[in-house]
Amino acid sequence: MNIEVKTAPASVQAALDTPAINAVGIVGAGQMGNGIAHVCALAGVTVTLVDVKTEALERALGTIGRNMDRQVNRNAITAEERDAALARITTAGDYGACGDCDMVIEAATEKEEVKRAIYKALTPNLKLSCMLASNTSSISITRLGASTDRAEKFIGMHFMNPVPVMKLVEVIRGIATDEPTFQATQALAARLHKITAVSEDFPAFIVNRILVPMINEAVYALYEGVGSIAAIDQAMKLGANHPMGPLELADFIGLDTCLSIMQVLYEGLSDSKYRPCPLLVKYVEAGWLGRKTGRGFYDYTQTPPRPTR
Ligand code: NAD
Repeated sequence: MNIEVKTAPASVQAALDTPAINAVGIVGAGQMGNGIAHVCALAGVTVTLVDVKTEALERALGTIGRNMDRQVNRNAITAEERDAALARITTAGDYGACGDCDMVIEAATEKEEVKRAIYKALTPNLKLSCMLASNTSSISITRLGASTDRAEKFIGMHFMNPVPVMKLVEVIRGIATDEPTFQATQALAARLHKITAVSEDFPAFIVNRILVPMINEAVYALYEGVGSIAAIDQAMKLGANHPMGPLELADFIGLDTCLSIMQVLYEGLSDSKYRPCPLLVKYVEAGWLGRKTGRGFYDYTQTPPRPTR
């Protein structure tokens, strides 16, 4: 007797193998963490938002609430959808709260030692199947993954700022990342209504490899007196049709994050063309980090924001 064994088509099999993500932990409740929490909660995913700073958690909930209110006013979502989404978000000061998560997305400060310390403290609290994604803008996914107990379930999921508005998510596989983790990440991005671009694991991936050296060059242009802050931004807005000038954009991203990305490019590619501009270093040393601290290349306590040089 011939018994015919039917196997599912490859696409169906891949879908069956793809782990479902219904509960997400987000570590770091800064500008990116609150945006990721916002889009996950609206997509019906349960969110646990963790930060070491209680004020960051309070600020994040306030920001998410205000941004969702704006969406209600624009008729992009209903008041019921907003309320249901907000009810899906809980906050916590420690990683014990992430025990039921299917994936944790780390969106903490762009410093490798900070991220490694987080993974070390976080992973003993996770179920074995839990995937771990980093929103890092530049650091090697392979190296970060290797520092955890689950390199095969570790992946780069790089959202853009502001997360609720920007369509793109870069997905970066480390050398050890397995296929189900890659597929699950793609599926989560699609559920969040994002479009993905897959990048190889090279310093700063695709977007920031191109964007941040341009910002650094704009800071050099300012440093060398080629133009004023206002002239440089005006020139790039009207001359290159960019929606924001490079210095305005640097303030929006955060000057500490821009500097960290340049350092990763400089060290990771061993090429002097990526050296961070000394003026960018000086702004960061002064604590003038851009919009998030109220002052960077512009002073945001003034309306409209006034150039600081
Ligand atoms: P941010 O400074 O606004 O927020 C970082 C948050 O991490 C802070 O609230 C801080 O308290 C928290 N944190 C620090 N150590 C922690 C710890 N041990 N445990 C829990 N929380 C901790 O920074 P951001 O702009 O949101 O950037 C976060 C990540 O996202 C970085 O890796 C950055 O490179 C990346 N990113 C940033 C942008 C951008 O435009 N700012 C865009 C894409 C990706």
